[in-house]
Amino acid sequence: MLHRVFVCIILAGAFGCQSPDASRYQLAGYPAEVQPTVEATRTAHQLEDRNGGVFDNEAILRNLHRIAVSLQRRTAPQRENWKVQILNTDKVNGFGLPNGSIYLTRGLYQMIQYDDDLIAAVIAHEMAHLEAGDCYKEPPKTKDEALRREICADLRAADFLRAAGYNPQSLVELLSIIEQHQPAGWAQIRQNAISQTLSMAP
Ligand SMILES: [Zn+2]
Repeated sequence: MLHRVFVCIILAGAFGCQSPDASRYQLAGYPAEVQPTVEATRTAHQLEDRNGGVFDNEAILRNLHRIAVSLQRRTAPQRENWKVQILNTDKVNGFGLPNGSIYLTRGLYQMIQYDDDLIAAVIAHEMAHLEAGDCYKEPPKTKDEALRREICADLRAADFLRAAGYNPQSLVELLSIIEQHQPAGWAQIRQNAISQTLSMAP
C-alpha cells in the first residue's frame, strides 16, 4: 500500500502548511501501520540534513521539552512522544511531523527565546496541525485553502495555550514577529481571526 505523509510548515512558503516535494514520500514494502512512522523518520532525517543538523544545547532542549509536556497534558493525551528540537539554520520556520517531532529553526528560536509564551505558541500551532491530521492531507491546492488550515491550527493552538496556562495572545505577537516570512497579508488575517475568537472566549 502506498501512503504519503507531508511535513507541516508553519511559517514560510507561499502556501503555508504544504509539503515541499522533497519531503513527500511514496513508500512500498512497509506495512500500512508503520508507514507514517517510517516516513516521518525519513523526512526528519532529510529535514535535519538540509538545515544544518540539530542544535545541541541541553538546557534549551530541556526547556522546549518542558513546554511541550505542559501543552501535551492539556491537548493530546493519547500522544506522549513529542520531541521538540532546533534545526541549526538561520531560516525562520517551524515543522511538525506525524511521529511527534517538532522543529523550530535556530533563526526562529533566536527571535523568541526569552519568552516561553512565544515558544509555546509555535509548539501549540504544530501540535494543532498534527492533531488535525494535516500531515496526512493533500497539500492545499489554493492559497485560500492553505490560509484556512493555518487559521484552524491557530485557533486550536489558542485553546491549547489557554488550557496549559500560557497566554494565547502570544500567537498574535508571534505572527507579527514572523510577518515578513509569510505571504503578504496573512499575518493580519490570522491575527484578526485569533483576536476575534479570543474576544468571544469566556
Ligand atoms: Zn501551520
